[in-house]
Amino acid sequence: MVAQVIDGKAFAAKVRAQVADQVAKLKEENGITPGLAVVLVGEDPASQVYVRSKGKMTVEVGMNSYEHKLDAETSEEDLLALIDKLNNDPAVHGILVQLPLPKHLNEDLVINSIDPAKDVDGFHISNVGLLGTGQKSMVPCTPLGCLMMLRDHHGSLSGMDAVVIGRSNIVGKPMAQLLLGDSCTVTIAHSRTKDLPDVVRRADIVVAAVGRPEMVPGDWIKEGATVIDVGINRIERDGKNKLVGDVDYASAAERAGAITPVPGGVGPMTIACLLANTLTAACRANGLPEPEGLTA
Ligand code: NDP
Repeated sequence: MVAQVIDGKAFAAKVRAQVADQVAKLKEENGITPGLAVVLVGEDPASQVYVRSKGKMTVEVGMNSYEHKLDAETSEEDLLALIDKLNNDPAVHGILVQLPLPKHLNEDLVINSIDPAKDVDGFHISNVGLLGTGQKSMVPCTPLGCLMMLRDHHGSLSGMDAVVIGRSNIVGKPMAQLLLGDSCTVTIAHSRTKDLPDVVRRADIVVAAVGRPEMVPGDWIKEGATVIDVGINRIERDGKNKLVGDVDYASAAERAGAITPVPGGVGPMTIACLLANTLTAACRANGLPEPEGLTA
């Protein structure tokens, strides 16, 4: 079997176009422009690139983008004061604090000081609890993007066997909750899982979120399974820098029914879902119906 490639770049462009349409309608019919505030502390080069591209795409879909760049020595008190100001600013519907934060700042404290209704990253403990109990929440962007691609490919996921490799708070755990919410039978695997190849071979859906280059070989994949590769790993091959996923794409594509490539799979969906979450937050804040097809 040769797998169908799930084109995350094209799908993300479609999601952004949907968001842009809904934003235009919101402006025209309700006079509301969704606003996303992104807070960056310090000069981490990767974070600067992410923040720049988030700002650019926010503006491209017609939303307001507010960037707050603070220097690396910013005190926790000053950062919390800024978040408090953003929490109380009606023009700001979504707040994202770019992680990682410099070591002297308590990430949990900072994230949990964001108004849960504006927590477009979905990391606030209230949102984690709401997702875990099947209630309306803000859903972390990367797993939301994976879920959208799976729903688009399969329609219903009900009754499917899903394995999530990785149990981080930002990808693995919320991914498992979302799959459970869509009535999959979910296994969460991690570094202590006894027989990972055997666990993966039973899955109709494999989501790999490990951070180890090409760790999952093709012969772990059940014939016809859907493989979602969240991993982003930089490696050097043949003297060139390359981005690869957690799955060995070439061998997995020979057995899977469908697979996301790296790059061009899950990656582009993450920012698209951040924009979708900001739109959802703006609708909820104004008592309006949520945008269809853009939430969990
Ligand atoms: P973490 O490092 O937080 O978590 C990795 C998980 O993988 C852990 O639960 C760990 O298990 C598990 N793990 C490690 N080694 C093994 C192993 N040998 N066998 C089975 N499980 C193992 O990573 P993240 O969840 O933050 O990210 C995972 C990957 O996804 C990274 O490559 C990251 O760059 C990428 N990513 C991509 C995004 C995107 O937009 N596409 C967004 C976010 C992340 P244990 O808990 O037991 O240690």
